[in-house]
Amino acid sequence: MADSIPNKGSHKESAEASQRLVGLLREQITDIQNLGALIRPRFKAIADQFYDHIDSFPELRRIIGANTTVDRLKLTFEMYLGRLFAGTYDETYQSHRTQVGLTHARVQLPLKYYLSMFGHLEVLIARELKPHFESRPLQDWIDASTTLSKVIRYDQLLAVDSYVEAYTISLQEERRAADQARKSKTLFLAKVSHELRTPLSSILGYTELILDRSGEISETTRKHLGVLNRNASNLLSMINGLIDIGRADSERWVTAPSLKAPASLIDDMALNAEGLIGRRPIEVHREATADLQKPVRLDFAKLRQIMLNLVSNACKYTSAGSITIAGHTEGGFLIFKVSDTGIGIPEAERATVFDEFYRASNQDSEKTEGHGLGLTLVKTLVEHLGGTIEIEGNQPRGTVFIVRVPFS
Ligand code: ADP
Repeated sequence: MADSIPNKGSHKESAEASQRLVGLLREQITDIQNLGALIRPRFKAIADQFYDHIDSFPELRRIIGANTTVDRLKLTFEMYLGRLFAGTYDETYQSHRTQVGLTHARVQLPLKYYLSMFGHLEVLIARELKPHFESRPLQDWIDASTTLSKVIRYDQLLAVDSYVEAYTISLQEERRAADQARKSKTLFLAKVSHELRTPLSSILGYTELILDRSGEISETTRKHLGVLNRNASNLLSMINGLIDIGRADSERWVTAPSLKAPASLIDDMALNAEGLIGRRPIEVHREATADLQKPVRLDFAKLRQIMLNLVSNACKYTSAGSITIAGHTEGGFLIFKVSDTGIGIPEAERATVFDEFYRASNQDSEKTEGHGLGLTLVKTLVEHLGGTIEIEGNQPRGTVFIVRVPFS
């Protein structure tokens, strides 16, 4: 995932291309070299003046630090002026400027300060050049300052480019770290869950075995074993949920597409909903557009798991009214909606309900069993299929989940 971020910075151009970029004509390269020759003896003075300016920017002073560092920076700056007036602007020049830009970005010098430094530099250079043009026609001075502006603008462009590259790199690093942390967590959960499942299954097996011996145990023991059994099953279902999420999260979990008409999934889900509702006064509606009768290629096993979780939630959190399972296609995407007239999800919690173990504040944990893992699994599976899931806002009542997955 991390590697999918395009590396926007450091587009290396040929020297000609960069000259074109800032509108430098070939003869202006010679001009810039000539301008450099005029003020070469003053490079040190320019560097001194440039860094004297630092104290008017406390932020800059804080980043740059002690005076000894400034002395070293002045020397580097003189070398930069040499390169600036050499007029090559080739890949080596660009790489060098990019490195300098990256260093500024790394020490977190705000881009606005870095860019404004070029403006200041332009003024200092112009001030040194001006006396050389006093006895020459005004047009010469206009041409010289225009050329200088173009060159300075080019360096500003490279500065922005290197900041973009620095942001991209740090974004990639953050993503990589987050990805690594998520993988470690998933692996840990998967391992612990597997370790817990075996002894738990054995506890469940034995309690059921004892409960089956109706005549041999007292009513009190039966009651206690019943509680034990319920809690153990509850724990087992949570552990199974964690194992499912771990598996869905793992890269090894491959997609297995099959050819099917999506309408059949809607029928399947409607039947499941009717079974789950039992005797509650809830109507089940199915809405499939005609295009859903056409077979499409998709990992239907995963899609079924997604839909089944949404439909069982709709049944779990609705006491009366209706549940609607609808679907249609739109530009290469299958879109499914699972709507209910149940308790709804508070607006502020609509993003959080996808987090592991999160249960919304408006539901009664005593009455509705659950571990807050279903939607985490759903989101992981939807993303695995390259799709998205959202909860429709502004519902007067109930909840609407919308799943969009691409198909071929
Ligand atoms: P749970 O096992 O708690 O149902 P889920 O991850 O499936 O776990 O859902 C997380 C929380 O989102 C639920 O506890 C519930 O508060 C809320 N939720 C999910 N679906 C619905 C729904 N259709 N209506 C109302 N609340 C819902």
